[in-house]
Amino acid sequence: MAVYIDSSGRLHHDQESSLALSCPHCSVLAHITPVSVPDFNVLQQHKPSLVGLVYRCESCNAPVFLRFPVKLYGGSRIELAPNFVELERPRERFNFTYLPEETETLVREAFACFTAACYNAFASMCRRVAQLTFADLGADGKLELYDELGNVRRLAELDDDSYDLVRKVLFDFDEPGRGNLPAIDALHAAVLLEVLKDLLYQAYVRRGRLQQAMMVRRYFADDDSKVTPLPGTRA
Ligand SMILES: [Zn+2]
Repeated sequence: MAVYIDSSGRLHHDQESSLALSCPHCSVLAHITPVSVPDFNVLQQHKPSLVGLVYRCESCNAPVFLRFPVKLYGGSRIELAPNFVELERPRERFNFTYLPEETETLVREAFACFTAACYNAFASMCRRVAQLTFADLGADGKLELYDELGNVRRLAELDDDSYDLVRKVLFDFDEPGRGNLPAIDALHAAVLLEVLKDLLYQAYVRRGRLQQAMMVRRYFADDDSKVTPLPGTRA
């Protein structure tokens, strides 16, 4: 894949037509097109090792900032390496309504670590979330969630490596004689993220939504007169 800026300041990218990513603003997997390319002469003068470009998200029109390493400064072109870094990444979405406040704080920080691609920090935060959740739900709750991890393994067809890693981070806390947290790469962090969201959904969101729905049903079933007709309408 060749990416370069020519002497007239135009960006050439042989895979530009298929360049797409998850937009940090609208979260849509969208095609992006360059709108702001650094000045060729200024780059030649200072020769930075990294170059920032601004693209436009074709879904929501928002700016998307990418940083490319420079491969080489030629006489008539500046070649960039294709492995760019996204300066902003989409935030994780989750329904925090039914989570205890302290858990919500930790989960938000865990998501922030994931978004910043700090995957080992993310795993440490996942473990803190798990510890707090088990303390809140008790031993039975922890067992139920362990069973749920087994369901996730089956439903999502998790490979053994991923399953072992998630189990170790979330359920197998460090004690004397045991190893520490394993090193986490991007792929395993993504698996861990989805499992954490699913377990929190099972532990809090699903239960909270069901309880609330049942409470509303009971309220109206108990006494129809609690439904106040709008003025001008007949009951
Ligand atoms: Zn967008």
